[in-house]
Amino acid sequence: MKKLFILTILALFITGSAFGEFVKKLNVITTIFPLYDMAREVGGDKVEVTKLLPAGVEAHTFDPKAKDIVKINNGDVFVYTGEFMEPWAKDIFRGVSNSSLLIVDASKGVTLMKGNDPHIWLDLSYAKIMTDNIAKAFGQKDPANKDFYMANASAYKARLADLDQRFTSDLTSCKIKTIVYAGHFAFGYFAKRYGLAQVSPYKGFSPDAEPSPKSVAELINTLKSSGSKVIYYEELIDPKIARVISEETGVKMDLLNGGHNVSDDEMKSGITFLSIMEENLKKLRQGLQCQ
Ligand SMILES: [Zn+2]
Repeated sequence: MKKLFILTILALFITGSAFGEFVKKLNVITTIFPLYDMAREVGGDKVEVTKLLPAGVEAHTFDPKAKDIVKINNGDVFVYTGEFMEPWAKDIFRGVSNSSLLIVDASKGVTLMKGNDPHIWLDLSYAKIMTDNIAKAFGQKDPANKDFYMANASAYKARLADLDQRFTSDLTSCKIKTIVYAGHFAFGYFAKRYGLAQVSPYKGFSPDAEPSPKSVAELINTLKSSGSKVIYYEELIDPKIARVISEETGVKMDLLNGGHNVSDDEMKSGITFLSIMEENLKKLRQGLQCQ
């Protein structure tokens, strides 16, 4: 009898821990890389985060397929930047039938600039707000781990605040105040936050729309008058405009990474939003000739 009792307890214990292994993680789907990274930081081992954008895919012109809608429909939380960054999110909402899905507009609480520039994450004070929005959503969906999410968010925000502070102090002393960018206009919020200007030959936010020869010529003029010895190009696309300008003017080309998305190799190498921004700081300090 005693033996049976012990066996029963043992069986209960084993079943219990086996169940423990299968406690369902919060299923989170994010659009762009910075959101994916924030969700990973906040959620730790309590969430399973999927980045909707396949590696290397351009974020503004992404076109969700039926399988993406299925993926989101099966999720607990869907995080996107906002209506200007992911105008295609509307199609997703129309296709989703899962009424318990929590949709998170990460730009909630951010003071949006006029002109619909959607790159809010590049202002690190706004990246903190986005992190908060994500943590709040996780806590709402999974109240048992609310404190865990809040603590992770606080730790991550402290790192964002530290880097924000370094951008502010390091970029005040720059000889050159204009970022001459051969990519699409992604650094509006960034430039505003850190007291710089940005010029780009692109009209909209899609790198697919070729800039006109006139706007490239204007960019070359700005480059010359700014005294900059660097033409910056954007991530994940062939930097042909920067190359043309570099060849014509003799200035160096360098990557200034907007962080929208990452390649397969970058993902494997363990790239993070913070490491991207660290690298950007280094490149700007050089290119803008900061003390
Ligand atoms: Zn962009």
